[in-house]
Amino acid sequence: MSESGSIDTPSNTLAPTGKHKPTTRTKVIEQGTDYLNAIGSDQICGVCIDNGGSCCKGCRNLADGIGCKLRNTSCTAWLCGFLRYFLYETELLREWESFWKQVPGRDYREDYTPEHFTVRKTLSPHNLRLLGSELAEDLKALAESKPRKGYIIDLREQIDRSLDELTIWRNHSKQAIARKNIQLLSRPFHRFHRALEHYLNDTLP
Ligand code: SF4
Ligand code: SF4
Repeated sequence: MSESGSIDTPSNTLAPTGKHKPTTRTKVIEQGTDYLNAIGSDQICGVCIDNGGSCCKGCRNLADGIGCKLRNTSCTAWLCGFLRYFLYETELLREWESFWKQVPGRDYREDYTPEHFTVRKTLSPHNLRLLGSELAEDLKALAESKPRKGYIIDLREQIDRSLDELTIWRNHSKQAIARKNIQLLSRPFHRFHRALEHYLNDTLP
């Protein structure tokens, strides 16, 4: 797993900022989970898991029939290529990253986050389940049309890599290459792109 990087897009909006406010480890995990549920992450994960891509695979905290036994800030904050792509396109990635930057003690599949700490930025869910459902449908259709084992996982990793490059590369022409690669990789997401266009037209100034 890799922590999501920071990508600047011109119309990204920061979550409301203010004075330091007390919060808890449990509360930020709930806020993160609610946020992801509101974008329909469960629908996207369902397709990914059906195609062998579960990011919890092999984790000692995963219990049969129960799921994760050790909810933590690290796994909640972490985004795979598909979820990161979703937040990148909906221009919510910076909001997500700004929130989690305030949360101390994240590690790999566990955390050392204190029970009580303070934050300046809040995270409020956006109801985008329809968009998430469209992306999940696109992934399902792709998986059916490309029977090669591992196709969906490879696609997820390639998108993730291009998003990493967009974060790491400071040179504008290289960033343009990374953006182009993301466009090419996501070209088969027809339903998602249609829904995204409506969403961006309706919500952004
Ligand atoms: S890799 Fe991403 S889409 Fe797949 S199960 Fe994990 S979070 Fe969900
Ligand atoms: S600790 Fe993380 S990787 Fe392990 S089961 Fe829980 S959510 Fe999945």
